[in-house]
Amino acid sequence: MKKVLLVAINAKYIHSCPAIYSLRASSGHAESVQIAEFTINDRYQDILAGILAYHADIIGFSCYIWNTQIVTDLIADIRALLGDKVILYAGGPEASYGPETFLGSCDFVMCGEGEKPFALLMEAVSQDDLEQHGLREFVRTLPGAAWKDGGRIVYNPINPEAGSDMNKIPFLYTDLGNFDNRIIYYESSRGCPFRCTYCLSSIDKTVRFRDLETVKRELQFFIDHKVPQVKFVDRTFNCDRKRAMEIWQYIADHDNKVTNFHFEIGADLLGEEEIALLAGLRPALIQLEIGIQSTNPKTVEAIQRTMDFDRLRKNVFALREAGNINLHVDLIAGLPYEGLISFARSFNDVYALHADQLQLGFLKVLKGTVMEQRAEEYGIRYSVRPPYEVLATKWISYEELDRLRRVCDVLEMYYNSQQFIRTLRFLEESGGMADGAFAFFDRMADFFVETGYNKKRPSAAARYEVLDTFVSGLDLPEEQMKIFREYLRFDRMLHFHRSRGMAREETFDFGEGPVRIRFDYTTENPVSHEAGYVIC
Ligand code: SF4
Repeated sequence: MKKVLLVAINAKYIHSCPAIYSLRASSGHAESVQIAEFTINDRYQDILAGILAYHADIIGFSCYIWNTQIVTDLIADIRALLGDKVILYAGGPEASYGPETFLGSCDFVMCGEGEKPFALLMEAVSQDDLEQHGLREFVRTLPGAAWKDGGRIVYNPINPEAGSDMNKIPFLYTDLGNFDNRIIYYESSRGCPFRCTYCLSSIDKTVRFRDLETVKRELQFFIDHKVPQVKFVDRTFNCDRKRAMEIWQYIADHDNKVTNFHFEIGADLLGEEEIALLAGLRPALIQLEIGIQSTNPKTVEAIQRTMDFDRLRKNVFALREAGNINLHVDLIAGLPYEGLISFARSFNDVYALHADQLQLGFLKVLKGTVMEQRAEEYGIRYSVRPPYEVLATKWISYEELDRLRRVCDVLEMYYNSQQFIRTLRFLEESGGMADGAFAFFDRMADFFVETGYNKKRPSAAARYEVLDTFVSGLDLPEEQMKIFREYLRFDRMLHFHRSRGMAREETFDFGEGPVRIRFDYTTENPVSHEAGYVIC
C-alpha cells in the first residue's frame, strides 16, 4: 500500500494539530496514515529532511496563517526534489480560501472540511493496483478539491453532505503518548453562529455539536489521565447556554484537581446561572478567553459583532470578584472606524476590566472573509505575506500602528507577564495613570525607544529597575513614589519566590503602617497569582 503522510507545522512545541489527527481517525485506514509534527521554530532544512525521511507517496499539509509561508516553501522544494513521484496536497483554512497560493506545486488543495474526502482518498490508496498516475487523476475528482487544469483552477463542488457529522468523528486521543507536556485541543462543536467580518469561522453558517454524552465520556478520559490542559477549540463555546452549563457542571463534578479547561466564550452571553456556577469552581479549573476587539460602537457594527459591552463588563466584574477564573480578553487594532484616539478609548475600557491577560492583536485580512472584500472601501492596506497583517487604514496610519506594536511589546512585558499586578494597580488607583492606561503604556513604549530597551529587551529580573526609572520620570509626589516602590518590592518578591518555590517573610509599608507578609511557594500551590502569600 502507498505511504501517506500528514504534516503539521505548529506555532510552538506545546501545541498540537487536531486537524491531522481527525483526518487520520476518520480515514477508515488509520494504521496506514503517518503523522509528522514540527514547529515554525525548527530549522527549515530539518523539517524538509524530516518529511523526506518518511519516503511517502502522498503528503498532505495542514495550513494556517502561521505556517503558510513555510508550507508553500516545503511543497515547492519537495516537488523540485521528487517531481511526479509524490502527490502533494494542502488543506485547512488558509488553503481552502486561497488555493492559488499552493497550486503552483501542489497536485490539489482540499477546500472545506477534510474528513470525508480524505476517507475517499484512503479508500483509493488502499487499492494496491492503482498507479501513481491513476491516483493523481483520482484526486482531481474528490469533492471539494481545487486543482489546476493548465492555467485554470478547477473547483470541484463541495458535497453538501461534506460537513462532517460531529458524532461520526472518532475520538482523537485514545493514545496520549504523543501529547506529553502538550496542550490537548478538543472540539465539541464546529462553526459559529456569529458573523464577524474578519473571521473565517463566520463563513460556516451552521453550528454542529458533538453529542453531549459523548463529550462527557471523552472529557472523563482526559480527567482520568490527569492531562494538564484541555483547550476547547469551539468558536463560541457558550453559544448554546444550556449545553455550556451542562459541560461546565460535568467538569465541576469530576474535577481531578489537576486538569485545566480553556474556553473561548461570549462573556455578554453569560446569565446569572452561569456566573454562579463558574464562581463556585476550583481556582484555575477553567480559563476563559473573551474576544472584545473594540468598544467603539461604530467599529463593532462595521465588523458585525453582536456585543453588549455593558453586560460583558458586568459579567467580567462578577467573575473577577469571584477570583477563581483566569480571564483573557482580546483587542484588535486596525479595525474600521478605529483611529488612534478611538483605539486608546477601547484599550482603556478593556484595561479597566482587570483581566489576567490583555491580548492586543492586529487585524489580519484573511482570504475569503468579508473584511477582504471590503478592504478597499476601508482603505485597508495589508501585508502581501501571511499573516496578511494590517499596515494602514483610512483611520490609522502605518506609523500609528507601529506605535501600537511597541505598546503591545511593553504590555506583554509589564501586564501580561503578571509580574507587576500590585504595582500597576497601585499606579492606576493613585493617579499614576491619570491620563488613562493607554497613555501610560504609550509613554512607556516611547521611553523604551529613548533608552534602547525596545531593541535590547530587559530580562524578567531587570524589568523592576526599568519600571522604577520610567515611573521616576512621571513626577509623582514623593509619598506616592515611596508606596510605589513598596509595591514594586512586593511584586518582585512574589515573583522571585514563586518562580523558585521558596518561602520568606518581609515587612512592607503601603502607606498605612508596617505589615508583615509571608510568601510561601514551598508547597503545591494553587495556580492563582493571588495565592502564595499571607499577611501575618
Ligand atoms: S464570534 Fe468569534 S468565532 Fe464567531 S465569527 Fe466572531 S470572531 Fe469568529
